[in-house]
Amino acid sequence: IIISGLIMGMIIIILAGYYLARRAMVPIQAAWEKQQQFVADASHELRTPLAVIKSNAELMLRHPDHTIEEESIRVTNIVREVRRMTKLVADLLTLARADANQAELQLELVNLNELVASVAEQFGPLAELEGHMLRVAMAEELKLTGDRERLYQLLVILLDNAVKYTPPPGHILITGAKQGGHILVTVEDSGQGIPPEDLPRVFDRFYRGDKARSREKGGTGLGLAIAKWIVEKHGGKIGVESTVGAGTKFSILLPVKWIKRNSF
Ligand code: ADP
Repeated sequence: IIISGLIMGMIIIILAGYYLARRAMVPIQAAWEKQQQFVADASHELRTPLAVIKSNAELMLRHPDHTIEEESIRVTNIVREVRRMTKLVADLLTLARADANQAELQLELVNLNELVASVAEQFGPLAELEGHMLRVAMAEELKLTGDRERLYQLLVILLDNAVKYTPPPGHILITGAKQGGHILVTVEDSGQGIPPEDLPRVFDRFYRGDKARSREKGGTGLGLAIAKWIVEKHGGKIGVESTVGAGTKFSILLPVKWIKRNSF
């Protein structure tokens, strides 16, 4: 009886160990599969511009008798795709570094009013050119501990999208206000909106709701994934509300408090 009890006990321990090991593997396996998917999607995205560059360059080589106008169309196509690839590679590098925990924040005291003003100054003429009106409404002076470059990049991503996905004439509004120990920043547009079924996926890597418009405007499908990473790295949260045909509003809640340098 003692021996069979011991054997039973051992079998139970082995089975429990096996079960626990399998359970511990689940998140590792999921992370591995996510990483594999990321590499596969990135390769696929790089293949498209490469194919366009290759076919245009080959056409130029095979037909040296092309007119200047014909050649200039080919060169324009090549330059457009090289730009697209450059942006894609930069975005991929940002996310790869983020995944490898190699992207530390350079924390400093950031004046958000100044930061928003300089992004608006950069985007104002572009928005106007596209037929939009860009407005900034900061409730008060807002300062927070953050990485100036990354916060700038975050605003650029949201404004770039607002311009891209808003048919003219549109309104784009950036607001900022204190909310307890946090700062709430919103970027709102009067654009095409996002269908409710797409809303949960807009922050996913390579997710594009409007594929044609995204490609035409040089989008990589990585902008909002990077935006989410920047916000979360600052200990904040990003959310989106949208109504098709009426507009989209991104809300960012960032903690104000000073966190010691390099303690992230
Ligand atoms: P992309 O490079 O395609 O713009 P993003 O990650 O920045 O990639 O955005 C993902 C998708 O979310 C876009 O393809 C678009 O369908 C949708 N989207 C993002 N911002 C807006 C917006 N302001 N209005 C409408 N749709 C948007």
